[in-house]
Amino acid sequence: MGARIVAVANQKGGVGKTTTAINLAACLAEAGEHCLLVDLDPQANATSGLGRRANGHSTLDLLDGVPLPELTIPSSFANLDLVPAKPELAATSVQLSALEGGERYLSDALAGDATGGYGFVFLDCPPAFGPLTVNALAAADRVLVPVQAEYYALEGLSQLLGSIDLVKRRLNPRLGVAGILLTMVDGRTRLAAEVEAELRSHFGELVFSTTVPRSIRLAEAPSHGVPAIAYDRRSAGAEAYWKVAMELVERA
Ligand code: ADP
Ligand code: MG
Repeated sequence: MGARIVAVANQKGGVGKTTTAINLAACLAEAGEHCLLVDLDPQANATSGLGRRANGHSTLDLLDGVPLPELTIPSSFANLDLVPAKPELAATSVQLSALEGGERYLSDALAGDATGGYGFVFLDCPPAFGPLTVNALAAADRVLVPVQAEYYALEGLSQLLGSIDLVKRRLNPRLGVAGILLTMVDGRTRLAAEVEAELRSHFGELVFSTTVPRSIRLAEAPSHGVPAIAYDRRSAGAEAYWKVAMELVERA
């Protein structure tokens, strides 16, 4: 059986996409699934968060047709490989939209045997519903949508799910929504409880049962170049991502 390809997407920045992609990949890697993280954000936060830099090859080459095995590097975490990103990816994004079939470059690169050695492949998307995110959704089996627990959390979410549905109908009938994940929940505030209640009343089962608390450990881990389970296994953030990972396995 091939890999489960999971895109982590939301057009908003700072909602926890990269944190979610890194930590879910690490938890599943530790659980014994050989995992790959493909960094699709020119800001390369997933790359640096896993203790690496793109010196030579990067996601750019993947979109250019260089075979995946030539581009993967080991991350700082066992059983978790990485295709790093670099800033030049931003220009490619513009070119992709001008190319005939440009939305399928990534799905071609990840098709067939290319990802056969992996249990899960995570695609960390940039904060825009642009050509790179469309490429990710065209290549994915599932999309996971992190949502930050804040006043404007639901704004744009229905529109995002509509756009995902459009990609499903036009480009990738395999695509399903793995779920909406509430992140950066400050359990002491009434606002967080209200946002969660509203999210669940609107989207029901689509929302992961587990929510991710605001955790300083999750914010600190990337500066050490490691996932939260390597930085502080007992932290609330690391434990939350363990539960999310187990839920994802059931949902994916
Ligand atoms: P995105 O990829 O959607 O832009 P990030 O995952 O980079 O979002 O998160 C944005 C910022 O918030 C980063 O500095 C990250 O370390 C921090 N962060 C993410 N999740 C949490 C959390 N649950 N608790 C505390 N800080 C978090
Ligand atoms: Mg990011």
